Amino acid sequence: MFPPTDPLNWLLLIVTLWLAPLGLIIIYFAPTLRAIWREPVLRHPVLIVESDDWGAGPLEQTEALERVADILSSCRDHRGQPAVMTLAVILAVPDAAAIRASGKYRRRGLDDAQFAAVREAMENGVKQGVFAVQLHGLEHYWPPSLMASEDETVQLWLTQDTPQSTEQLPAHLQSRWIDTTTLPSRPLQERDIETAVGEEIELYQRIFGDIPKVVVPPTFIWSDVVEAAWAAAGVRYVVTPGRKITCRDAEGKPACYQGRVHNLETGRGVHYLVRDDYFEPMLGHAASETLAALERKTALARPCLLETHRANFLGKRERVDPALRELAALLQQALNRFPGLRFISTEALAGAMLSGNPDWLEHRRGPRLAVFAERITHIPRLGKLSRFIGLHLVLKWAATFFGHRAS
Ligand SMILES: [Zn+2]
Repeated sequence: MFPPTDPLNWLLLIVTLWLAPLGLIIIYFAPTLRAIWREPVLRHPVLIVESDDWGAGPLEQTEALERVADILSSCRDHRGQPAVMTLAVILAVPDAAAIRASGKYRRRGLDDAQFAAVREAMENGVKQGVFAVQLHGLEHYWPPSLMASEDETVQLWLTQDTPQSTEQLPAHLQSRWIDTTTLPSRPLQERDIETAVGEEIELYQRIFGDIPKVVVPPTFIWSDVVEAAWAAAGVRYVVTPGRKITCRDAEGKPACYQGRVHNLETGRGVHYLVRDDYFEPMLGHAASETLAALERKTALARPCLLETHRANFLGKRERVDPALRELAALLQQALNRFPGLRFISTEALAGAMLSGNPDWLEHRRGPRLAVFAERITHIPRLGKLSRFIGLHLVLKWAATFFGHRAS
């Protein structure tokens, strides 16, 4: 009989009306909910500065690397570990003289004598524990796309004698894993990808003595085929901006956005890591706002991986000095704000997360549920829905039932 007259039936009706949409939401968002529940929950705040584009290129990088290393080694966490900057390395630039002579693409590798001082600065930083080398790419472009470019400035860039800065190339030509001869971009041939991955892994191993375990795809555009080729060669982790992007549109802008990815989610034989916070002093990013990113990530028990580029630390002193001061201020302010902050390399952190190391990860159900509830509120659409329907509160109660999150 409707409406019910018995208070108990009223209660049952209300619960049913609540459970039905709740169930639908849970079913609809199940893959995301599962990914977030599986994502590691850190026990400590973690800050890693991820810096791209180092390697073959301007020789002034040597001094920049030395100055950055000095700052990193002067900032230590409570365990005595220095701050770590990962260096995503480019292994070659065009060999201008050889290109002029042959009319064909030729490269000059980071193993060339010309780059000895740059390599040494990197190696010294690695020995001090302040640098960790990662693969960015053999080149920061797909050579055939560059050679086929009808842009006069690109052809001049290819044949200029000083080691070129890839930052000067048009943005769409800085992508390595797509054919941007014409736009929108087109996928590369599978065998060309496999050959190119083989070449970059081989050169990286020759220079750094080991296979790269972490790759940062140039401009964050790559495909499943590239990923599978990296995995087959021994790469274990791919740094992502939290989603996969596989092409550029007719305007040359990144497009073909795939679904979101979470820390340690698996791809084609690799695990993903998420880097979606930024520290680019040349774009006006201040230490204070970057500290807010660390606070947000810590509240969600995630590591704060900061994206930055060598361009911040190269060029005129009046631009570089403030950038270095901002870096030092950021690290110091982070240590002051979070005395339990930990510095570590991306590869070592990923290893600790993958092995479930209890020194780094929270395994107790109560604290994990509290973090899960907090993470849900940050998912677009689901966050609002979960607050509206009360899912967030239910999880908070469950977390309290199983025991509060440790501080
Ligand atoms: Zn780059």
